[in-house]
Amino acid sequence: MPFRNLEETILSSNLCTSCGACQVGCPSDIIRMDGLHPKLTVDTDAVCGTCIDCLTVCPGLDTGVPESEQQLFGRQRQVEERWLGIYDSIHAGCSTDPVLFECSASGGSVTTLLASAMSCLKLDCVVVSGREPQRPWRAASVVCYDPAELPKTAQSTYQLFAHLSILKDLFRENSSLRVGLVGIACQIQALRKLQRMDNFWGKLAREQILFVIEIACSSSTAPSGTETLIDSMEIPLEKVKDVRYREGSYPGEFVVYTQDGQKASTTLWEAVRHFKNHKTHRCLSCGDWMSGLADISVCDGDPNIFKSSQQEVSSFAKHGTILVRTQTGAKVLEWAKESHVLKTWSTVIGGANLGLERKRNRRAHYEGLQLPIPEGPIPGYRELIDVIPDEQLIPSLNQND
Ligand SMILES: Cc1cc2nc3c(=O)[nH]c(=O)nc-3n(C[C@H](O)[C@H](O)[C@H](O)COP(=O)(O)OP(=O)(O)OC[C@H]3O[C@@H](n4cnc5c(N)ncnc54)[C@H](O)[C@@H]3O)c2cc1C
Ligand code: SF4
Ligand code: SF4
Ligand code: SF4
Repeated sequence: MPFRNLEETILSSNLCTSCGACQVGCPSDIIRMDGLHPKLTVDTDAVCGTCIDCLTVCPGLDTGVPESEQQLFGRQRQVEERWLGIYDSIHAGCSTDPVLFECSASGGSVTTLLASAMSCLKLDCVVVSGREPQRPWRAASVVCYDPAELPKTAQSTYQLFAHLSILKDLFRENSSLRVGLVGIACQIQALRKLQRMDNFWGKLAREQILFVIEIACSSSTAPSGTETLIDSMEIPLEKVKDVRYREGSYPGEFVVYTQDGQKASTTLWEAVRHFKNHKTHRCLSCGDWMSGLADISVCDGDPNIFKSSQQEVSSFAKHGTILVRTQTGAKVLEWAKESHVLKTWSTVIGGANLGLERKRNRRAHYEGLQLPIPEGPIPGYRELIDVIPDEQLIPSLNQND
């Protein structure tokens, strides 16, 4: 019966973020992610008993932000902190390694901080995004044990995947691993909920996941977005060797590498335009650009990567904006600076980020509809703005493909 609570509250209302946390949190181990969808692996749900851990850990409706903030910071965010959350300091930054700088999304701050955390916090591994070995156009979590391998996993992956589900197998293999993780808002919210749970997996997540970094998320895209884009480039999926979303000169292009050594590309803004028809209800109505619950959060320093992508040569000096939230985050940032792998300089952050503006407006639109939507980070708070539709924010997004 209790799994049906998850089905009724989350799955049938299209509120699932596909984070994979329910697979990890289930003490009976009867949930498996089937692609983006949690499924019971047994025919009867009688084994569920009285447990509701899958619903408790789920960020689909209840993101758990106020409770997690209370635990992390001893307070909840104020209205003026609605979109960025609680943070201690803010920096512009990028990697000092020219190779990583080039192959990263916005200067490689995240990859640099992950590698620094491995040294500074003596982590055994970090969980990042990669590709499925059998279907290399599909996103999948990857565990990286060697910091030298991390640049290969840099860049943004504009595709949904069940990021957290890998944790159960990882800890089954070795429950004493010291782990770091990079993710987007819904994944970090689920992880923090898992870490607050009073069960075996909650305890492991609490004690072994020691560094968490997040990247901002305007919205992600179902795998069909990537698949149909590759199809429109007339490349059969079985020929794909790798897919990169931000390859080459800033802000990068959508690039497909094939088994026979060919490379095909399309501009980032054309890819973004294509992806708009492959969004889930959960992503469109999402109330968080950043969870605000990571040790460090990073967004692009560029206020409008869409515009940069439409210019032949971007005039923007590639870098990221880094928000440090916890003492652990501050320690890792200092380590990276003292090791001369990260350079930082002062910056301010206003509302000037196209992804954030799109998110605020979409959220305000959904708050006015009579549909189930995820809770925002401040209980009862509603966005009080005149909604600017997407076609006004980015007119060229709505030309036909
Ligand atoms: C779906 C999505 C939407 C985004 N929307 C915005 C936005 O609106 N505004 C903005 O300023 N920035 C946005 N970003 C973040 C931005 O694209 C960069 O990721 C960020 O600026 C960090 O750049 P970097 O060079 O420091 O990271 P890099 O050094 O390139 O490293 C990025 C790290 O993030 C991991 N990663 C990439 N994609 C995912 C994913 N989907 N899930 C989990 N981990 C992942 C990679 O494995 C890598 O470890 C978005 C990213 C994604 C994936
Ligand atoms: S977490 Fe509990 S309710 Fe959910 S599927 Fe597992 S046993 Fe059933
Ligand atoms: S949002 Fe995450 S925890 Fe909730 S049902 Fe979906 S995959 Fe499971
Ligand atoms: S828009 Fe929200 S639900 Fe969708 S991937 Fe981003 S953080 Fe998760």
